[in-house]
Amino acid sequence: MELFKKNACELSEMLKNKEISSTELTKSVFDRIKAVEGKVDAYLTLNEENAMAQAADIDSKLAAGEELSPLAGIPVGIKDNITTKGLRTTCASRMLENYVPPFNATAMEKVLDSGAVITGKLNMDEFAMGSSTENSYYKPTKNPFDTDRIPGGSSGGSAAAVAAGEAVVTLGSDTGGSIRQPASYCGVVGLKPTYGAVSRYGLVAFASSLDQIGPLGKCVKDVAMVQSLIVGHDKLDATSAYREYPNYESQLKADLKGLKIGLPKEYFGEGIDPFVKQSVLNAVKEMEKQGAVVKEISLPSTDYALSSYYIISSAEASSNLARYDGVRYGFRAEQFDGLTDMYERTRSEGFGDEVKRRIMLGTFVLSSGFYDAYYKKAKLLQRRIQSEFAQQFEDIDVIAAPTTPSTAFKIGENTGDPLKMYATDICTVTVNIAGLPAMSIPCAYDNNGLPVGLQLIGNRFTEQTLLNTAYAYENIVGGFKMPEL
Ligand code: GLN
Repeated sequence: MELFKKNACELSEMLKNKEISSTELTKSVFDRIKAVEGKVDAYLTLNEENAMAQAADIDSKLAAGEELSPLAGIPVGIKDNITTKGLRTTCASRMLENYVPPFNATAMEKVLDSGAVITGKLNMDEFAMGSSTENSYYKPTKNPFDTDRIPGGSSGGSAAAVAAGEAVVTLGSDTGGSIRQPASYCGVVGLKPTYGAVSRYGLVAFASSLDQIGPLGKCVKDVAMVQSLIVGHDKLDATSAYREYPNYESQLKADLKGLKIGLPKEYFGEGIDPFVKQSVLNAVKEMEKQGAVVKEISLPSTDYALSSYYIISSAEASSNLARYDGVRYGFRAEQFDGLTDMYERTRSEGFGDEVKRRIMLGTFVLSSGFYDAYYKKAKLLQRRIQSEFAQQFEDIDVIAAPTTPSTAFKIGENTGDPLKMYATDICTVTVNIAGLPAMSIPCAYDNNGLPVGLQLIGNRFTEQTLLNTAYAYENIVGGFKMPEL
């Protein structure tokens, strides 16, 4: 049986009913990895031996009749910026090539406590900076729908692994779109939670005020299941929100009656591929037929979102990445002449071009002569963007928009032009600036067979509404389609 093709919720039932064992399932996923990884390159580190031991452990618990979490025995892949105790965590950087963390991220700890089987660590753009996974120091990941194309980024490995059947569900992280954008390009479901809903403890920091960990899966139910397990207050993260969270999976309801959907006109204008635009509008039409009420809205500051995102995120990155100095941990240049030279050589040799670009931009916008002109303005714009969303959410429930302006582009197409690469984030960054939850679900395939993502954006802490909307939509159109590989 090709178990790797199934979704987590189905497999969980099969395990519970003893139709399959976790050992069989884990073997099926590793066989799949062996068969397609050469084409996809989703992983940086494989964890096969431990995974087989974890699976055997779950099988004995199942045999003993223990009541287990729905994620128990399910093969899960982890983005390589989430720290995993005893398992190499590189952030796809040369800087952390040999870094084996002595602790687990909180989200990782929760996944392990649920009895998940960890397949390995997934490729990404270096330090999560990028939109295509081409900024990995090690290798680019390929889109399973067309291996000449990018899978998106920065969680490209996390999305490609799900689409290719190389993991059943995965964890990614999203600072400006890094879960939703690759989910869209790879035809899978991805959720970026509200800022503060999932602990950032142990997520290697890129831009701390924007970063969030979230799940990717083949279907809405899988994503709801994993989100229910990783959500929650954590005293190890000072920005973690203290509140009660529902079990999203058990409360999933496919009901669109009376749901108020807003269509922001700024997300359907210039620069959006006509096929993408039409596919998203068709998806919304389908939801309208099932009782949703649709109205056009306006978020006028969307035009400024990219500039303020790249200023704020780079400013924070320049500060966060100061810790890679060749002293505390990670890479150190082999030859140097004195301390300053050691810093310089370590950082010149250890970081890739995009990371250096962000550090330089970040230190520039924070420097005393330019702080008011750039950083302060970006923070003011952030306020404006937040209040425009808040105003809209007074009378609508969900915003629908494209996740990306086009379908997946070719490997190498945008690498020479950083601004062109940044522009592919136009539909996703505002959500992080405003701290909102959002998801991407597949809604169409273009004439090259490439998936198009529908983005749903909600008010703070309304993940349940988003998941319900996505679930209802998925019921109308049918679920995930696995690519031929
Ligand atoms: N593509 C965006 C960037 O390069 C977003 C990255 C992310 O969400 N981690 O910054």
